[in-house]
Formats: sequence, structure tokens, C-alpha cells
Amino acid sequence: NDDVEFPHAEKKTMADHLRKYESLLTLTPQRMRMIVHAIEDTLDNGLQKDGQVVVIPTFVFGWPTGEEKGDFLALDLGGTNLRVCLVTLQGHGKFEVTQTKYRLTEEQKQDEGQKLLDFCAECLDSFIRDTLGRTEADGILPLGFTFSYPCSQDRIDHGVLIRWTKGFGAPNIEGRDVAAMFKESLKRFNVPAELTALINDTTGTLIASNYVDPHTKIAVIFGTGCNAAYMETAGSIPKINSIGLPKEQGMAINCEWGAFDSFDHQHLPRTKYDIIIDESSNKPGEQSFEKMIAGLYLGEIFRLILCELIDAGDLFLGQNTYKLEKAYAFDTAFLSLMESDITDELLTVIGVFTHFFGVETTLEERQFFKKLAVLIGTRAARLSACGIAAIVSKKGYLEEGCAVGADGSLYNKYPNFANRVHTALTDIFGEKGKKIVTHHAEDGSGVGSAIIAAMTKSRKDAQFF
Ligand code: BGC
Ligand code: MG
Repeated sequence: NDDVEFPHAEKKTMADHLRKYESLLTLTPQRMRMIVHAIEDTLDNGLQKDGQVVVIPTFVFGWPTGEEKGDFLALDLGGTNLRVCLVTLQGHGKFEVTQTKYRLTEEQKQDEGQKLLDFCAECLDSFIRDTLGRTEADGILPLGFTFSYPCSQDRIDHGVLIRWTKGFGAPNIEGRDVAAMFKESLKRFNVPAELTALINDTTGTLIASNYVDPHTKIAVIFGTGCNAAYMETAGSIPKINSIGLPKEQGMAINCEWGAFDSFDHQHLPRTKYDIIIDESSNKPGEQSFEKMIAGLYLGEIFRLILCELIDAGDLFLGQNTYKLEKAYAFDTAFLSLMESDITDELLTVIGVFTHFFGVETTLEERQFFKKLAVLIGTRAARLSACGIAAIVSKKGYLEEGCAVGADGSLYNKYPNFANRVHTALTDIFGEKGKKIVTHHAEDGSGVGSAIIAAMTKSRKDAQFF
């Protein structure tokens, strides 16, 4: 009995701890509504000429017709993988995809900017030549490059990287035109491809999902990072007034909502764990919202809480916990594994802790871990629902309802994530919130970028250039 071994320690039970974390990590409907308003104001601000916030007009003009056709290459530099695809658009919202994936190493994420793009070009080249068996003689294919970091654009085939996110830090690329740099790489490696469009994954997801289901008005990525896109009318984007578009012309907006409440930290209920993550990241102060939601960080929040309990002597006393003490050692995938464990003994949770971290757990501890995972996952889902609600309210989509295309590992693999987003939407809006429905999106960075490349090609020399 612990009380006998440690007569002076005020030993708290796991249930005491749980109560504390519950109150730190739970978001009431009222609190969510305040966040919704603040995000809406932030989006409005970001669309102004003199806006302080990064909200990005994408130069993707309006919805696809569903009749876009042809062969397109798509390159996707996400947070974790590099993916190369050949997309054949067949019209009627149909398509085929051939693809290869390459895992990015930590070194590559910090490598010289041009070298990182050179690597992308080399992978693309070997995909075209080896996988597709094509050469220059077969023609130059148009390419959509999904580069999922905030880039300011004034054309579709141009984009200045504002700042890296998701732990990337490659030097000498922030502040520069990534499209121009990538064209250099294509030339250097003689790649038979022509960069037609530089897009964000959210924009691609918006367009791909609308291509197959025109009810889709919003797209969200819940992956390594978190962000959303929607369609705005040019008249409501004062930032781009000068290019003289008709007021009703649609243009996709990349919200970059991951940056919401960065630097000032006035709106989000950040805990000390969120602050530690922020301050020990390569970009302190930035991406505040994303750091509370995205797959890159949720496991780390969990781990920091465990470390707090270990330090207090309330967990794993006498066991060697060095493996748990390593930053980012606790992958977010473990949270989803633990949440999926429905055995009485929580056998999967046992497995996670013995196999990966070399520690023994009691049933009471495992039950606590699972509940803690629920708290962290639920907070993430509820916060991101605030972002969706902000767009819905800004665009007046509540009356008619709308579909939200969602993609990313968190959305696709984390149990209950989608349900929690939906519950949060009804907490925010009441019954009407039920008309906002998320669904698994079409492949935005592959198919979406191909459709955008096709839309761009068919518009070449047309009115907006
Ligand atoms: C980036 C966004 C991207 C999101 C999801 C964020 O870190 O800033 O551009 O859409 O991750 O990939
Ligand atoms: Mg991705």
C-alpha cells in the first residue's frame, strides 16, 4: 500500500488528477462561441487591405464544373510525406490516380531550401520516367504543386513562403517565391513537367470535394497541421480590389487559421502544456491554434502531462521512465490506439506502455490514460469546430446547411473525432448545427491540384491575366 511506503506524501489518486485535467481541457459551449467570434473577426481582418493577419486569396477562381479533363501531375509536400501522383480527370466528377510516396527525414525538413525542392524535383523525375515510363518525347505534363505552408500569392503559379510551420525549418526559402525556386529545380534535373499551379492542401481539398459533391463549401485538414479553405466573393476581399475582378467572382480563401491567436494569445484557453510546446518549438509564438489541435502536437500534450505526474512522484514511481521523457516520443497515433481499446483490461494500452516505453501500468492508470486521451482529442475536435463555425457564420451557411470536406490523419484515423466535431457544432449553434456535416474529403493534394491545374490551363490568357 502506497500510503504505508510514503507516509508523508499527500498521495493523490488518479481520479483526483483526472478531475484537474478535465477542468483544464474542457471547453464549454459558451467559451466556444467566444472563440468562434474571435476567429470570425480574425478572418475579416485578414481580408482587409491593411489586415494584420495572414488570410490568403489563392487565385483559384470559383468552383470546378466537374467536366475538367486530362492528365496532370501532382506533387504534394505535406507535413510528413512527399507524394507524387499522375491524375487522370475523366469528367463527370470522375478520376484515376497513380501515386508514389516518400517519407521525409527530419534532416530534409531542416535542409537548405533549394535542396529540399531539388529532392522533390528528383522524386518527380524518377516517378515520370521509372513509374510512368514517360520521356520528353511523350510531352511535358502540367503539374500542380501542393505546398502546404502559408504562401502569399498574386498569381496561381507563384507563392512567397511567409513562414514554415509543422516543424519545418529549411533555411533560405522563407520570404522567397517557392514556385520560382521549384522551376529552377525542374530545370536543373530536366524534369518533363511544367509548374501550372502552386496550391495549399486545403484549397485542393475544397476544389476536389466540390468536384464530386457540389454541396461542399468548406474544406478542413486535420493532419500534421490544421487549416481550412472556403470560397469567398471578390467583393468581400478588399485586399485584392486592385485587380478589378467582378464583385461576384468566387475566389478560394486559404484561412491559415492555425495561426489564430498567435503572439497575443488573447482568446485561446492555453494550458501550461500548450505553452511548453510553443516555447520549445522552432517557431515560438506562432501557430497557436494549430499547436492545440494538430496531429503533430496532441501526443506531446499527453506526454507532458505524464511527465508532470512522474515528476510529482504520482506515476511510475521506481520505474525507469527515460523513454517517456524524450520530447515528442509519444506519437499522436498512440492516443488513437488507446481510445480504440475496448478491452476490460485495456490490453492495447498495456502494449503501448510496455513495448514502446518499457513501463508497467496498473489498470487504474490505464483507465486514466485513456480518459486523458479522450480529453485531449475532444478539446482538439471542439476547437477546430469553432473554426468551422466561424466560416459557417461568416458565410451564412447555417440556414441551408453545408458539407465540409475533411481530410488528414486525425480526421481519418482518430476514433470519434468527426462525432466530436459534430457534437461541438450543435453545442455552438443548437439544432441547426446538425446541418453542417463533415465527410471524408476527396484527395485534395492529388486530385484537387490536378483540377486546379486544369481550371488554370483552360483559363490561360483569359480575363484574369
Ligand atoms: C499550414 C497550412 C496547411 C496545414 C495543413 C499548416 O501548418 O500552415 O498551410 O494547410 O498545416 O497541412
Ligand atoms: Mg497532407
